[in-house]
Amino acid sequence: MKIDVTEKTPQKILTPTSGFLEGYTHSLNPYIGCAFGCSYCYVRQSPVGLFRKQEWGTWVDVKKGVAEKLKKELLLLRKKEKQVVIFMSSSTDPYQPVEHKEQVTRTLLEVMAEIQPDFLFVQTRSPMVTRDIDLLAKLGEKVMVSITVETDLEDVRKRFSPAAPPIPARLKALRELREAGIPVQAAVAPALPFSDRFPEKLTGLVDRICVDDFTGDGSGGKRTNRLKIGERFDGLEKEEWYEGDVQRRVWDKLNEVFSPEKLILSPEGFMPPKKSMEP
Ligand code: SF4
Repeated sequence: MKIDVTEKTPQKILTPTSGFLEGYTHSLNPYIGCAFGCSYCYVRQSPVGLFRKQEWGTWVDVKKGVAEKLKKELLLLRKKEKQVVIFMSSSTDPYQPVEHKEQVTRTLLEVMAEIQPDFLFVQTRSPMVTRDIDLLAKLGEKVMVSITVETDLEDVRKRFSPAAPPIPARLKALRELREAGIPVQAAVAPALPFSDRFPEKLTGLVDRICVDDFTGDGSGGKRTNRLKIGERFDGLEKEEWYEGDVQRRVWDKLNEVFSPEKLILSPEGFMPPKKSMEP
């Protein structure tokens, strides 16, 4: 699909967080819009998605000149001795296809490798994140990379997020990051139908696994209902994977392979790990 790419020059790049990003002081979005266009994306139902005429997933605004802005903003926060705990990204994917060319995320990481925040959480679906292992490594324990792996079944992934990167590439990225010593988690969020072998496939790839279902969309599942996500499940799947306490059932399945210390339910699974925040 052709993506409509335009450029924007924002006044600021760090956004002070409110409500749902508990534990963070700022969110950092290198782009507006997202070419992955996941069917269940809660941003579709936010002002960013709703007030644009074009359909979500067909457009991306590239934020220009933001590395300099980030540098200034971080230095100012440091001067004021404020804590800086950053979530990248809350309403876009920092490693969507346009990042290959634009490298906005990379330039932001270059700044953060130099003027380090107290903690940076990187949330993505893209194996492109491995390109930046050199910069992520400079942050040591002050970073965690979370890669969404909702399922191990490609036919399921294609049904719910056809433009997002293939699952095997995401698993490979988790392995590469871990081997490079970068703290990593798999976000099985929102959990989609997966095979019995899925927990085993994650073995050795992650420091922790975050588990969530569609109730973690910031509205207890209402946004997801409005997006008619239930229609994407086939009849038999729906009962097991969409209705009832899916989060608990998925946790139990993963718990057959992973100890409870490695499993973490959302929203806690998207918060900074406690260990990283210790002085
Ligand atoms: S990758 Fe994230 S921001 Fe992009 S469409 Fe999917 S859920 Fe939304």
